[in-house]
Amino acid sequence: MSKTVTKNKAIIIGGSIAGKLAARVLSDFAEEVIIVEKDPKCEQRLPRTSVPQGFHGHALLKSGEEALEELFPGIVDELIADGAVPSDFASELSWYHHGSWKVQFKSGVSIIQQSRPFLEEHIQRRLELIPNIFFQYETKVKGVVVKENRAIGVTLTTKNGNISDLFADIVVDASGAGSATPRWLKELGLGVPPKTEVKVDLFYSSRKYCSLSPKNGGSLLIYPNPPIQNLGGAISKIENNEWMVTLLGYGVKHPPFNDEQFINYTKQLDDQGIFETIKDADPVTPVSFYRFPSLSRYHYENMKHFPDGLIVIGDAFSRINPVFAQGMSIAALEALALKKELSKREGNPGNPKHLSKKIHRRFSRITDIPWLIALSEDFRFKTTSGKKPFGLPFLQWYVKKVVKACSRNTEVYGQFIHVLHLKAHPITLFSPKMMLKIFASVKKSNYI
Ligand SMILES: Cc1cc2nc3c(=O)[nH]c(=O)nc-3n(C[C@H](O)[C@H](O)[C@H](O)COP(=O)(O)OP(=O)(O)OC[C@H]3O[C@@H](n4cnc5c(N)ncnc54)[C@H](O)[C@@H]3O)c2cc1C
Repeated sequence: MSKTVTKNKAIIIGGSIAGKLAARVLSDFAEEVIIVEKDPKCEQRLPRTSVPQGFHGHALLKSGEEALEELFPGIVDELIADGAVPSDFASELSWYHHGSWKVQFKSGVSIIQQSRPFLEEHIQRRLELIPNIFFQYETKVKGVVVKENRAIGVTLTTKNGNISDLFADIVVDASGAGSATPRWLKELGLGVPPKTEVKVDLFYSSRKYCSLSPKNGGSLLIYPNPPIQNLGGAISKIENNEWMVTLLGYGVKHPPFNDEQFINYTKQLDDQGIFETIKDADPVTPVSFYRFPSLSRYHYENMKHFPDGLIVIGDAFSRINPVFAQGMSIAALEALALKKELSKREGNPGNPKHLSKKIHRRFSRITDIPWLIALSEDFRFKTTSGKKPFGLPFLQWYVKKVVKACSRNTEVYGQFIHVLHLKAHPITLFSPKMMLKIFASVKKSNYI
């Protein structure tokens, strides 16, 4: 076993979205940032082996887009120049939600639509221009090295089976949902992190098409209508004049795996728009399938003996139902939180005192709202099980009214969009002014 010792170094475990964004932040504070990634370098704009969700639709929320722009100024223009599709969230998206269509109007919330590999490629390009960021591909982190309750490095295995320790002042675990930090902590005798898990039994089935012509010309989202309808789907235009078609369902016994099942499935949705759009169209990729069993979040901030200098970020920290398109944006907001905390330390990441606890508290606060948004919807499905959020029946009752009001009132829908894009706190939907508008719209639509 060989050993390398360097000073003022940060190691990132995993070079996906969360890892790349954390590396960008740490490059301002550490002399050297090393991203250790088990996959080979991705030379083509294709989903990677260890990131199979890359085959599926990946919407970037406005909050995530803004955080990305803060980290890489000019990147949004670059993405658009290269083919990402700008789209107004309310006027260019036809959204069928809980049995009614959202009112369409120019909301001013313009998002950019692209595939996940396209987005990751652009972030990667930017990272490669930063001189103190280094990549170590085809290398797997097998453990974290801890001394006197402080993370001082990681143990690596290369594809040739060579094992070595790499030392650093900060170790960031951005290894996604399969993160081994809980196991490593247990093996080190530091305890087991508290975890909250909610089972949803969701599936995704996606494929790309070229030159689709949906009736509205823009994106289409048919959200399930629980508890009656568990199935949903979406179409959105991405780069290269291609369209991503994603089908999804909760607790579905026979999800669509092949061409025939894919088309048949679209006929079962509450609206035939997706079926009509793709029935005679040519797909450019086969059907890809993904099962998402549960939402989960760790409460590292509550651990008594968590090693300082070890930071868990992105899906490794919390994993939220992808239907709400929050994962990448949460990772981006966490990267900004990391920046804020490190800035407070006058750029001295070599002093990780209480760093982990403070960072994880920030991450936990970031997670709270998306977690609540997702669960208030997920628990409408009979197949969902786990710890319910406080006040759930009231929340579900009220949100249903908000959703109904969004089919008539542009102001309510505008605010709802801001909440969904993690730009405004959900409490803003409970202001007296909003409540009046919501109940007035609901009354007009005869919805009880
Ligand atoms: C079906 C689906 C659809 C989704 N849709 C959306 C969406 O519309 N919008 C959105 O914002 N989010 C979406 N998400 C979530 C989004 O994909 C993630 O939140 C986002 O990728 C952030 O993940 P991450 O970087 O934390 O982890 P991942 O993307 O899972 O990456 C983890 C990385 O760590 C590497 N790695 C793992 N273990 C090791 C190790 N031991 N050593 C070295 N490297 C390691 C892996 O190779 C990988 O590169 C979706 C997720 C799914 C499953």
